[in-house]
Amino acid sequence: MSILEKDKEFVWHPFTHLKSEGENICIERAEGSYYYDDKGNKYIDAISSWWVNLHGHSHPHINLKLVQQIQKFEHTMFSGFTHQPAVELAERLLKHLPKNQNKIFYSDNGSTAVEVALKMALQFWENKGESKPLFIAFENAYHGDTFGGMSVGERNVFNNAFEKLLFEVVHIPLPNAENIGRLETELQTLVKNHSVAAFIFEPLVQGAGGMQMYEAKYLDKLIQICNKNKVITIADEVMTGFGRTGKFFASDYLQNKPDIICLSKGLTGGYMPLGVTSCSQFIYDAFVSDDKKKTFFHGHSYTGNPIACTAALASMDLMEEKRTWIGIDRIIKKHEFFLSKIKSHKAIKNVRQTGTILAIELNTTEHSHYLNNASEKIAEYFLKHGILIRPLGNVFYILPPYCISFGDLDFMYTRIEEFLAMS
Ligand SMILES: *Cc1c(COP(=O)(O)O)cnc(C)c1O
Repeated sequence: MSILEKDKEFVWHPFTHLKSEGENICIERAEGSYYYDDKGNKYIDAISSWWVNLHGHSHPHINLKLVQQIQKFEHTMFSGFTHQPAVELAERLLKHLPKNQNKIFYSDNGSTAVEVALKMALQFWENKGESKPLFIAFENAYHGDTFGGMSVGERNVFNNAFEKLLFEVVHIPLPNAENIGRLETELQTLVKNHSVAAFIFEPLVQGAGGMQMYEAKYLDKLIQICNKNKVITIADEVMTGFGRTGKFFASDYLQNKPDIICLSKGLTGGYMPLGVTSCSQFIYDAFVSDDKKKTFFHGHSYTGNPIACTAALASMDLMEEKRTWIGIDRIIKKHEFFLSKIKSHKAIKNVRQTGTILAIELNTTEHSHYLNNASEKIAEYFLKHGILIRPLGNVFYILPPYCISFGDLDFMYTRIEEFLAMS
């Protein structure tokens, strides 16, 4: 059997409609912004490998650091034990995170980073002797696939089958110039009349919800209301972290800093699964007690894995280099220029940009939706032209690794224009 035949026989792929699953693309190697498959095709990775890659694939610096770490040791439990990569990474992250962040808690991925944040917020209030069971989140949010993550996320096809078991969450609309006044009043009433533990949000950009974007100044107002009413704020920066929005973290655009921040995806430069939940000192302090019942009983077998932390440290080396930020600024400027060029195209319903993320919402007869049939047509067109894109229904986006060349950006913009012309 070939790899692809065995793939069909033995493997169940994520988010995949099994009845219409086509032949998967078998990647043999990847370098910089390119993938190479087993048939000799080359693809530009326009979406940073499902939003995780920052500096390109198979980066020599990260590769070298990983090899060095593997030769020392690969794993230790993280309760009662510690190691240099995890400690150094915590120190390095805290240098870049907002100043109100003081502690780093490790887990394995974005969903667990969120799960940890939700549990921290709930137990914070329990430890204080107050029961606050309610969460507030945005409509259209995506916070991962665990039960906590699904609960605070938008109720949709992703979690319909589990809806009865999801806990209670109040979903409020994304803020904009028109609704912000009403939204402030609504939030104020909510936090006064209910026992709200926390408000969780994807700052500035909702990723899986279709790259919906909103302004920091409105989020600031909502965070302020939470601060005044003893509601913990949680920024899910799993997608927006590490330069994606043009600053190190999307929270850097905010005046009012979140109490808890979730990180994953770009954290290791796209090399290893790793999650981080950072928090303010006051959250941590609620778990410091003579009473053993106030312990945060949460951990994973791979918590603080040294290889994952080493990849993250090597990626941080690159994040701290000037040329990475030159790359980011160059993508932002080129996106801006391209956006202004296509923004009134008749095939486009809306085109938007935050930092290195450019999203195009197509006009379709169906409404904008993850299952919109435009998705397959878009993916197929770009794949045929050597560009790997994964649309969210009728919304497609480019979110490239920061090392992408001018030439490759221009090549993608040209293909997009051609696609729009025939849409
Ligand atoms: C991807 C994502 C998650 C889930 O991360 P996984 O590593 O896929 O579990 C959570 N929140 C946001 C904002 C994400 O984009």
